[in-house]
Amino acid sequence: MIRESLDFSHEPELTIDELIRRVKAYYSDVDEQLIRKGYEFAAHAHRSQKRSSGEPYIIHPANVVGTLIKLKMDIETIVAGFLHDTIEDCNVTPEEIEKEFSSNIAQIVVGLTKISKIKFKTRQESQAENFRKMVVAMAKDLRVIIVKLADRMHNMRTLQYVSKEKQQKIAQETLDIYVPLASRLGINSVKAELEDLCLRYLHSEIYYRLAEKVDMKKSEREDYIRTTIRVIKDQLEEYDVHADVTGRPKTFYSVYKKMQQRGVDFEQIQDMLAFRILTNNITECYKALGVIHSAFKPVPGRFKDYVAIPKINNYQSLHTTVIGPQAERIEIQIRTHEMHEIAEKGIAAHWKYKEVGSGVINAKDIDWVQELVQFNQDVKSNSEFMDVIKNDLDMGGVFIFTPNGDVKELRYGATALDFAYAVHTEVGNKCVGAKVNGKIVPLKYRLKSGDSVEVLTSKTQTPSKDWLKIVKSTRAKTKIRQFLSKIERDKSKELGERMLEEALKPYAKNIKSLVKKNDFNKAFNELNARNLEELFIHIGTKRNTVIEVLKLIPSIDYKESMEEKEKAESYYQKLTKTAKKSANRDNAVIVDGLDDIVVRMGRCCNPIPGDEIIGFVTKGRGITIHTAQCDKIADLVDTRRLSVEWNNEYVFKHPVNIKVITHDKPGILSSISSKINNMGINIRSAHAKSLPDQKGSFIFEVEVKDYSEFLKTLSVIEAMDTVISVSRA
Ligand code: MN
Repeated sequence: MIRESLDFSHEPELTIDELIRRVKAYYSDVDEQLIRKGYEFAAHAHRSQKRSSGEPYIIHPANVVGTLIKLKMDIETIVAGFLHDTIEDCNVTPEEIEKEFSSNIAQIVVGLTKISKIKFKTRQESQAENFRKMVVAMAKDLRVIIVKLADRMHNMRTLQYVSKEKQQKIAQETLDIYVPLASRLGINSVKAELEDLCLRYLHSEIYYRLAEKVDMKKSEREDYIRTTIRVIKDQLEEYDVHADVTGRPKTFYSVYKKMQQRGVDFEQIQDMLAFRILTNNITECYKALGVIHSAFKPVPGRFKDYVAIPKINNYQSLHTTVIGPQAERIEIQIRTHEMHEIAEKGIAAHWKYKEVGSGVINAKDIDWVQELVQFNQDVKSNSEFMDVIKNDLDMGGVFIFTPNGDVKELRYGATALDFAYAVHTEVGNKCVGAKVNGKIVPLKYRLKSGDSVEVLTSKTQTPSKDWLKIVKSTRAKTKIRQFLSKIERDKSKELGERMLEEALKPYAKNIKSLVKKNDFNKAFNELNARNLEELFIHIGTKRNTVIEVLKLIPSIDYKESMEEKEKAESYYQKLTKTAKKSANRDNAVIVDGLDDIVVRMGRCCNPIPGDEIIGFVTKGRGITIHTAQCDKIADLVDTRRLSVEWNNEYVFKHPVNIKVITHDKPGILSSISSKINNMGINIRSAHAKSLPDQKGSFIFEVEVKDYSEFLKTLSVIEAMDTVISVSRA
C-alpha cells in the first residue's frame, strides 16, 4: 500500500478559525455559527481538563474535527466531533446536546459514549464486545464509526505521552479492531496511518529500522522519484494521456507484512517506492496502462484490475509492477481522480456535505453492514463472532482456490453457488454442486478461506427461485434474476402465441400465413412491438388483448361482438387456470394445459428434479417422463412430445442408482447401508460384486427427494474411510 496523501499529524496550534477556514474550502455556505457553538460548548465543558501531553483538552476534539474535515464530512459529524467526549468526561447529558444542537448530533455522541464505556475482563472478550457494540452503533448511524476512527487516529498520534503499558494495549486494540474497520469501510488513508502507528508501538525496532532505511540516501531517493515521474509523464504525454503522476514510499506496515509473508529481511527489501497515476476518466486509465506496459517491461502475474472488478469496499484501481527506468521493480497504481477520492475516504466520501439531511447514507443501503447486524444477532459466543469479523474484515472476504491454482476473493458467507457464478454465469446457471477439497458438497455449502473448489455442472441444470436464498453476492443474485425473468418472458411469449393462434382460427388464418403477407406490421407499429416475439409477449402479459391485435390485421374484418371478447377472455382464463390448478396437484410433474393425467417416470433414465425433462404420450399408459438426454427419445415420434416441468410443490421421492467402489472389507455393505438409512433415505435394493485388487463394487438404488439430497448422500458415503469412489450409476 502506498501512503495516501492525506496528512493526519497532530496539530498543536489548531484554532477554530483555521478549522472554519478549512470547512469553507469545500463547503462555502456552511453554518459557521453552529460550528463555533460546537467548539465553544466543548471548550467550556472540558475547560478544567488537560491531555496527557499537558495541553488543554480542547486540542483533542479540535484535532478530531481536523481529521473529519480532511474527510470532508458533513456539519453534523463535525459538531459531533467537537462534542464526542463531553458526555463521558464532563457529565453533559444527551438531552442538553439535543436541546442546544440537534437530536442527530446527540445520537452520534451517545453512540460514541456507549462504545467507549464498556469494560471487560479479557482482551479477547473486550474486542468482541466492542466490535458488536460498534456494529450495532453502525447500523443506526455510520457516522458514529467515522468519528470514532478520527478519535482513535488522534489518540494514536499522541500515544507517546501515555505509559508504555497503555501504549501496547491501545495499539493492539487499534490493530485488532479499528484497522480492519477502516479497511472494511474503505477509508484507506486512515487505515494506512493507523497501521504504521501500530507498528511503531508494537514492533518499534522494525518500525525504526524501516524509517531509517527510508531516511537514508534521502536526496538520492528524491532524485530517483523525480526522474521516474518525468519519464512516466513524458511517455504518457507522447500518447496524449494527461495525468497527475506522483511517487512516494510505501507504508512501513505494508513492507513489514511483505517481509513476514515472504520471509525476507531488511537487506532484501528493494521496492519501497510506488508510483501513482491519476487520470480524468476510465478510458485514460487503460490507455495509461497500455503506455506503461509498452514503455516498461511488466513483471508477469502482478497486474490486477480492480477497475473492472472493484474490491468489496468499493476500492478501484489498476495495479501493476514493471521494471523501471533504472532496472528496478516499481509498483504503479492507475486510477481516476474520483476513484482516488473513494480510495482515500471510502465510505466517508459518500456524505454529500452540501445536501444536509438527504446526503446521509442509510446503513440499510450498505448490505454488508446489514449482514453484520444480522450475524450479530445470530451468533452467541463472542469469540466466534470475532473470528468471523476478523476473517471477513482482514481479508475483505474469503479466498478460494480454483482447480488450476487461481485465487478468487468472495465475500464472507459465500456459498459454492456464489463461487460458480464468480467463475462464469453459465457455470453458475448449470451448477449442481461442488467438490470442496475433494469432497462433494451441496450448492449451499459455505466456503472458507483456503478451500479449493471445483464446480460440478450439469447440462440439464437451470436456476430456480430458491437459489436467490442460497447466494450472497449481488452478482450471483442479479444473474439468477436475469435467468428467471427470461424464463418468465419465454412463458409469456408461448402463452401469447397460443392465444393469438386460437383467436385466428375462426377467420381461417394462422400466424405463419399472416407473417408472409406482412399483415402484422400495423399491429407492430400501433402497439409498439418491435417484432412478432414482442407482440406475443404483449399478449401473454396482458399488456394488449388479442382483440386489439385482431383489429389491426388488415386481412381480418373484425366484428366486435361480446361473443368474441368472451371467447378470448375465457381462453386466457382456461390456460392460466390449468397451469395453476395442475401446479397444486399431488403430481411430481406439471403437464402443460392438461389435467388428471397419469404420469410415470421412464425406467431407462430415472429423471430426478433438476433434470431437464420431456413428456411423451404412451398409448393407454398416460405420459412417460424422460430426461432430455435419454437415449430412448430418438426412437419416439416428435408429435407425441409434451412440454412438462417439475412441480416445485411436490415432495418427491425418486429412485436413483449410486455406484460405490470400496476396499473389500467384511461388513462394508451393512455399514454403507446404515449410513444411508441414518440420513432417512430409503434403499430399494443393493447389489454387491467383487473386483480384482481386493476391491468391491456396490450398486444401491435409493430414493431421494431432489438433486441436493442426492449430492448429500454421495458426500456422506464418500466420507467413509473404506470408500474409494462414489458416482451416479
Ligand atoms: Mn476522544
